[in-house]
Amino acid sequence: MSAGGTGFRDLRSDFPLLAASPELVYLDSAATSQKPRAVLNAIREYYATANANPHRGAYKLSGAATDAYHGARREIARFLGAADPDTLIFTRGTTESMNLLATAWGLTHVHRGDRVVVTRLEHHANFVTWQQLARAVGAEFRICELTPDGQVDLDQLRLLVTANTRVVAFGHVSNALGTINDVREIVRIAHAIGAVAFCDGAQGAPHLRVGFEQLGVDAYAFSGHKMLGPMGIGGVIVRRRILDAMHPYQFGGDMIEFVFDGDSTWNVLPHKFEAGTPNVEGAVGLAAAVRYLDALGMDAVRAHEVTLTRYAMEQLATIEGLHLFGPASAEARSGVVSFTLGDIHPHDLSTMLDVDGICVRAGHHCAQPLMRALHVTSTVRASFYVYNTAEDVDALVASLRKAQVRFHAHVG
Ligand code: PMP
Repeated sequence: MSAGGTGFRDLRSDFPLLAASPELVYLDSAATSQKPRAVLNAIREYYATANANPHRGAYKLSGAATDAYHGARREIARFLGAADPDTLIFTRGTTESMNLLATAWGLTHVHRGDRVVVTRLEHHANFVTWQQLARAVGAEFRICELTPDGQVDLDQLRLLVTANTRVVAFGHVSNALGTINDVREIVRIAHAIGAVAFCDGAQGAPHLRVGFEQLGVDAYAFSGHKMLGPMGIGGVIVRRRILDAMHPYQFGGDMIEFVFDGDSTWNVLPHKFEAGTPNVEGAVGLAAAVRYLDALGMDAVRAHEVTLTRYAMEQLATIEGLHLFGPASAEARSGVVSFTLGDIHPHDLSTMLDVDGICVRAGHHCAQPLMRALHVTSTVRASFYVYNTAEDVDALVASLRKAQVRFHAHVG
């Protein structure tokens, strides 16, 4: 198989870090993606031509910063398929987005005796947030288990989502296994009894065409840095009626309408949930990232990743003692392969791969409840994105074979 077989030209030259290190095999995009030159340039251009504090000044430059910020919001909302850009609230990323929902919505809408449901696949950002909300208000916290190949057990979910369930919080795509969830079905199950469906899209937005309106979720959270954008920016799209019924998350500048001595009133959306000076640089950089993804086409991005993942799964299956976790088919996962290799500790294995310039993640992937269910403490995870090629997979497989020989020579 050749890199051209995936339908993309080799994109490394668009990514300064990768272009500067031809030997580097970056297989950790589920942790964070590399950034194309277009994103770096957009940030530089913003500071060179339009930097001021938005919303604050009557002068033209402040207007330029305000336009840059809200223009970015409109572009990102359109990319994610949200009809109403003012319902896209910028945050630092998925972690802050889930905390916003659990705090600003959860504390007033979930009560003692209610039920909160998550799945066994969740990242800690979408697990601990709801676990702690449930503890704080005295609600029941229930976890939907998985089928043997790492998919959410929808039959069990139908039983778990009872009349007293207020929220079903679930990921679009698992960062640990790559499993793509049946979002529409999970939404149907939640809505059937009047619960809200909140989706952690940290691993969905970078890899799949989201279509917020079609998915039917009540909220969709994402992180810019996993989708070619900068760190420190992300957001959550929330249905307007839910935002209207939510208390502010943080207090301060920009989110205020009037402040009286005894109480205050709140600005309109999206400002009500964006207290303080915003991350304009991040929003502008993320808008450049979604333009880059749009130019590639999200269907092509997906096709590229399925091809690479299928190839990786075939190649990994030829390595004796390698145990691959997660769905059996490449179509059922995003570009993630999570595995163990014989007795080699995942941290040792990733250190050995690093010697060959291969960057993979080893650990529990912020999914300790999932690792416990899989009866492991950690796995090695390789994850693919637009700039990866079949040669990267070949390099991974060759290095794994080398590590295996070295390990056995050492211990045996
Ligand atoms: N959810 C999932 C599924 C993730 O993969 C991550 C990042 N690893 C997060 C939430 C948290 O995202 P961030 O660290 O960008 O807030």
